[in-house]
Amino acid sequence: MAYDSENIFAKILRGDIPCNKFFEDDHVLAFHDIAPQAPTHILVIPKGAYTSYDDFAMNASDEEILAFTRAIGKIAAAAGVVEDGYRLISNTREHGRQDVPHLHVHIIGGKKLGLMLP
Ligand code: 5GP
Repeated sequence: MAYDSENIFAKILRGDIPCNKFFEDDHVLAFHDIAPQAPTHILVIPKGAYTSYDDFAMNASDEEILAFTRAIGKIAAAAGVVEDGYRLISNTREHGRQDVPHLHVHIIGGKKLGLMLP
């Protein structure tokens, strides 16, 4: 699947539409989900144009992958969810119910979450 530069997260990265920013560095942007499913619901995205986790894992540089992986841990800690726990989700492509075709990892926490069912 080719990257669609008109997807909503590409627009957020370009600054075409606003977001409630939580963290930013050279490789990563994190912002609060517009429709939070729990008290903490943060989306973490790489700044590179990657549609999904598999695209990122296969095509990003080691530097990008390291920065993204580290950022997720740092953001979870900064959000205060590490001690009690949280969930990372990356819905992927059609069967995974991915709505926005720019890789994003949800950090969800702040309460005891329900069990995940398919
Ligand atoms: P997906 O279903 O692709 O894994 O998740 C997409 C997420 O993006 C959803 O949780 C949805 O609420 C969130 N979202 C969609 N549009 C926007 C937006 O314009 N701003 C923000 N902050 N979140 C959005």
